[in-house]
Amino acid sequence: MTYSFLQHKISGAIEADDEYWRWLEEGEFRLPRCASCDHWTWPAHFRCGQCGSWEFAWTPVTLEGAIFSWTRSWYAFDRVMERKEDVPYVSLVVELPQAGGARVMGVLTGDDSRAAIGAKVRGTILPPSPKTKHYPSVTWAIVS
Ligand SMILES: [Zn+2]
Repeated sequence: MTYSFLQHKISGAIEADDEYWRWLEEGEFRLPRCASCDHWTWPAHFRCGQCGSWEFAWTPVTLEGAIFSWTRSWYAFDRVMERKEDVPYVSLVVELPQAGGARVMGVLTGDDSRAAIGAKVRGTILPPSPKTKHYPSVTWAIVS
């Protein structure tokens, strides 16, 4: 299989998170967990910061978390003109307690009037598209 994100990858990007994108494009959300000491390591690194192991298990993680931080974009910025029709939109940093408190980013869908720190959210994986620069993505919705 040829992965969309690999064809559009930014030159010079580190490759420690390639597995994240591969799994996401397969429709699975996985984060790296040290195969030696079980420490979650996100953002991805080549080596565990706790024990020094070079081995990671890309572990399935449920797409449920809480908003750690959020912001509403009111303008179409140069580097994300693909989203200009979506303005204004809310971007999130979501904390995943089931993955050692790892934090991931995504866009909030649906009613954004309840965006608040600590609000519970559930994620959905979307396939690569021009809007996401040919990367798969995760969108989040507030759980009532
Ligand atoms: Zn470790």
